[in-house]
Amino acid sequence: MRKNIVAGNWKMNNDLEASKLLINNLLQEFPSKLDASKRIIVAPTFVNLYPIVEITQNTAIEVAAQNMHFAQSGAFTGEISATMLKGIGVNIVILGHSERRSMFNETDEMLVKKVESALQNKMEIIFCFGEMLEDRKSGNHFNVVEQQLTNALFQLNESAWKQIILAYEPVWAIGTGETASPEQAQEMHAFIRQIVSKKYSQELANDVSILYGGSMKASNAKELLSNSDVDGGLIGGAALIAAEFTAIIKSM
Ligand code: PEP
Repeated sequence: MRKNIVAGNWKMNNDLEASKLLINNLLQEFPSKLDASKRIIVAPTFVNLYPIVEITQNTAIEVAAQNMHFAQSGAFTGEISATMLKGIGVNIVILGHSERRSMFNETDEMLVKKVESALQNKMEIIFCFGEMLEDRKSGNHFNVVEQQLTNALFQLNESAWKQIILAYEPVWAIGTGETASPEQAQEMHAFIRQIVSKKYSQELANDVSILYGGSMKASNAKELLSNSDVDGGLIGGAALIAAEFTAIIKSM
């Protein structure tokens, strides 16, 4: 079911103490469950997942992992599996973030396997995708986005989409301070909904939450989130500051 979602990706920031401080500040603002149409998610580093899961139990805040391996277990030094995440109460995973794609060579083929593993383990997926600056400059951004979705998600059956949240993140806007304009975001989100509708159905496309990510902050959140096809945000830098993240959530 389509919901408004604000998700904070803490990336490789915040040690345990800083993570607890941040989450406790957020919980002061959002102590109890929100109405059913809205969700707040945070994604701490792997080592801080369990303490944050414990602190946020029965609160408005849900916890996601930033990545996972596609295998259930085995000789994959340094990796974490879906079953391990589920075992500590993490039911959501971010997959396909541009930093994973560009710095850790994550390919569409690997993402297909990760998506499959997350679905098998009944996890929700925040699936990230988006074009590079050169794609946008050359006018190829719609093709790139369609290709990324086709390669990693369009093999799924309809029922799997209940576990998918899309996060359109133009790479040129991530961590750069440069944000897509509300018009650019709406145009791309409407396109995404249209291609999901063409592949599956209008009903399914209407049900999918599509988040925008890329330098969203308190000062631009309202404008971005007021677009009819922008259902929320995936936030990096601004998610590390309680007052900023709180203001973004309140704009939702
Ligand atoms: C992100 O990394 O997903 C992101 C959107 O980062 P930032 O908000 O810092 O651009």
